[in-house]
Amino acid sequence: MALDEFYCLACRKARKPAEGFADCTVKDGRAMLTALCEVCEVVVHKPVSVGRIPEIARLLDLMTTPRPLPDAPARKEA
Ligand SMILES: [Zn+2]
Repeated sequence: MALDEFYCLACRKARKPAEGFADCTVKDGRAMLTALCEVCEVVVHKPVSVGRIPEIARLLDLMTTPRPLPDAPARKEA
């Protein structure tokens, strides 16, 4: 399975994410990608190592949580 593919349980095949978009949640030094199957739009997940995120980000439009910007301004509550 390619780096930018997910195993879809509904299709029972490796599929690319819809619109090349995936959420990437980093927790405890591990990353979990979440996307929608491009064929049936079922939610698909894939655990990846954090070190591969830059590589995957070149293939997919990744929305990383938390943001990898340490100096991002904190949101101020009114
Ligand atoms: Zn599918």
